[in-house]
Amino acid sequence: MLETLTGIGPKTKQALSHLGIDTLEDFIEYYPYRYELIRRTNMKEAKEDDSVIIDGTVTNIPRVVYFKKHMERMNFRIQTRDAWIDIVIFNRAYLKKNLKPGTEVTVFGKWKPKKNQIVASQLQFGKLEKEYVESIYHLTSKITNKKMIQWIDEALKLAKPRPSFIPKTIEEKYHFPSKEESVLEIHHPTSTITLKKARTRLKYEELFMFFYKMTLLKEVRKKETGLQRKISYQKVQNMIQQLPFSLTVDQGQAVQDIFHDLESSSRMNRLIQGDVGSGKTILAFIASYMNFLSGYQTAFMAPTEILAIQHYQKAKELLEPYHMTVALLTGKLKASEKKQIQKDIFEGKIDLVIGTHALISEKVTYHNLGLVITDEQHRFGVQQRRELKNKGLTPDILYMSATPIPRTYALTIYGDMEVSNIKTRPTGRKEIETQLFSEKQLKEVLTKMYVELQKGHQIYVVAPLIEENEESDTKAVDTMYENMKKAFGKRYTIDMLHGKQDGNTKEKIMSEFQENKIQILISTTVIEVGVDVTNATMIVIFNAERFGLSQLHQLRGRVGRNELQSYCLLVSNYDKERLQILTKVSDGFQISEEDFRLRGSGDFFGVRQSGDMSFQLADIYKDFSIVKHAKEDAELFRQNKIYFDFEEEKRFTEFEKSIVHLD
Ligand code: ADP
Ligand code: MG
Repeated sequence: MLETLTGIGPKTKQALSHLGIDTLEDFIEYYPYRYELIRRTNMKEAKEDDSVIIDGTVTNIPRVVYFKKHMERMNFRIQTRDAWIDIVIFNRAYLKKNLKPGTEVTVFGKWKPKKNQIVASQLQFGKLEKEYVESIYHLTSKITNKKMIQWIDEALKLAKPRPSFIPKTIEEKYHFPSKEESVLEIHHPTSTITLKKARTRLKYEELFMFFYKMTLLKEVRKKETGLQRKISYQKVQNMIQQLPFSLTVDQGQAVQDIFHDLESSSRMNRLIQGDVGSGKTILAFIASYMNFLSGYQTAFMAPTEILAIQHYQKAKELLEPYHMTVALLTGKLKASEKKQIQKDIFEGKIDLVIGTHALISEKVTYHNLGLVITDEQHRFGVQQRRELKNKGLTPDILYMSATPIPRTYALTIYGDMEVSNIKTRPTGRKEIETQLFSEKQLKEVLTKMYVELQKGHQIYVVAPLIEENEESDTKAVDTMYENMKKAFGKRYTIDMLHGKQDGNTKEKIMSEFQENKIQILISTTVIEVGVDVTNATMIVIFNAERFGLSQLHQLRGRVGRNELQSYCLLVSNYDKERLQILTKVSDGFQISEEDFRLRGSGDFFGVRQSGDMSFQLADIYKDFSIVKHAKEDAELFRQNKIYFDFEEEKRFTEFEKSIVHLD
């Protein structure tokens, strides 16, 4: 189908597919994320390095100079309405034959007044007739914005957008423009007001569909019968009493919630939301013990291998005394080991298996899976539940959130789940002292590190990337390693941890850090979630500006895991105002609210990655009033089931089928 458009071959098709565009409808519903007003710059007002747009007539034959490998630079001069300007443009020599003197061109670029020159990024033939608005799309390197505009325009002529999912009565209630009008408007805005109306309509539709789906799933789940269990409350209590600490009030409440869910006849779908360090892992272990007592297997999924390994080590220690068999299943195992574990799972010899996503997506066949736990992630959702269902499995599900979000948003977004919040922290914890430094203050940072090391404590150092990137001054893990070695290598052991290492290496390094054989662990954000080493009391984060506040709060949560005073040192030359928030606020719920305020909800959900919540336009924070209406309307519509006409009824019936497979 896409081939009907100009110039789309197999390669382009693939590139488009990465953007989620596989059909003409996808093109039509691929919306711009911003707009640019294209109009002639008043060059008298332009300042050094301003982006400018100016048209004129070419006055000389362009000269081309070649340099380096495959690089060229072309120079020519244009006569504008009131002056002449020199134009420089790189790697566009193929245009030379079309740039004869007398040719009219429009130049886009950066203004260099001292040289009376524009360094052009783009050339268009012809003068700038009148100002217009250009839609700007998210692109990949193979596709230019111009091409995107052209294809979308072609698609708009050849196809229609998908039918509207806003019921007619609601469309009328809000005086929404039609879907077709809105789609045209969003690609080719005619005025600020009409554009806003179109965007609101399209956002509303996304949200309405989402909440309709949530409502439906909730209904379905209520009807599903869960596993019939009888759990010895006494045995659970005994196990809890044997723990080295007593549970906090909120942990205790969560245990009650889980116990009731498991014993009840309907299926569990519960989210445990808790600030970092509030002690969620232990709840997962208690839940799997309950599940074990009722005779079922548990699958515990962690987002990273490192975390899976850590959970495995702890689970073994804690649960084996209760005769539970615990296994670790990750992608990095030898084929033979994997096979053995899979066999044991199939035969029911394993009670708790811990691993990454492979636990449900790969060819693991369970003896009797009763509970799935997912730690520190949002990704597990409808799609994964369906995968399980396709395998004939309907286990209870327990989620543990990576980032707690304020109650109002949690209620809407996690609309089809029950939520337990853990606000109380284990007693005796001190607040983590957080300080912000600029890169110039490296000496102070090192001094503070030295003080902690001398106390016998350990330190995490976080650097954003693995390889040093020439273009940025980002402190790569490798370089950081060398630097730290210079500073502390004589007396302390330093090692690094990153995503490119294999499972065994990671496991070895993590356990060496756990055993204090390593004092400074340099790492990318793989340690961001979950890692738990109580003797580590300091975390130093370089290029802190690159992280979201919630992410930094997660990182900071790696320390302060017992009574010792802990420290978080943020090192950054940029974005200080935002980073200062962390020096003042220690409540994760509040921090995620700040993150929402500053960056919207897009980042939070990892745009387009979490299938359930792939909003193209809507932002649950910024568009909260639309969110509220869409949610209420969707629930009401689902309840009343009053359709405008047969057409509408059919559309919704089909939508339902696609969600729940009602067959
Ligand atoms: P998170 O909620 O961030 O996943 P963890 O489950 O890793 O936190 O727990 C953090 C640390 O607190 C662990 O070392 C854990 O053993 C400990 N912990 C959990 N609950 C309690 C408690 N009630 N009292 C004291 N320490 C606790
Ligand atoms: Mg955790």
